[in-house]
Amino acid sequence: MERALELARAAAAAGEVPVGAVIVRHGEVIAAASNRPIGTCDPTAHAEIIALRTAGDLLRNYRLLDTTLYVTLEPCAMCASAMVHARVQRLVYGATDPRVGAAGSIFNIVQHPTLNHRLDVTAEGDWAEVIADIEKQHGRQRAGFQTGSRFSRNAAGPSTASGCARWRIRMSKPCSYALDNGSS
Ligand code: ZN
Repeated sequence: MERALELARAAAAAGEVPVGAVIVRHGEVIAAASNRPIGTCDPTAHAEIIALRTAGDLLRNYRLLDTTLYVTLEPCAMCASAMVHARVQRLVYGATDPRVGAAGSIFNIVQHPTLNHRLDVTAEGDWAEVIADIEKQHGRQRAGFQTGSRFSRNAAGPSTASGCARWRIRMSKPCSYALDNGSS
């Protein structure tokens, strides 16, 4: 979990929502990732998804048997579902997410009785305070960066385009898709 926390801090430093994920198999770290949806303009680039893809590529198997996924924040529905598909054996998360958590807070996808795979789940609440500090720092960074009105959450329209343009200032890699989408 300490490695996952380092990755969450790295995500925060890059202007992302601070989440880090690590996958361990037989006592060995086989994948580690920071949250990157903003920088990559990829809504699926959550830390868990990137780590799952890395682990699958390493193992040359879409089933990640005998693995434990450590993540600093309770996974969302997308990531929880991907863990079920991947047959991850165990999930360990640091802080609960009362907004979108899918390991018991809002949904419990990782242990849903009708699905054909369920994960063992451990919530390591001892880390919650550390993670809250990282998120608080992230909130300050975002508040300091975003001046004026907030950018729209809508999928299209001028406010989204200007929002993406504003985020682009912090990106090392241009978000060409967002620009194309916004100008169409
Ligand atoms: Zn997610």
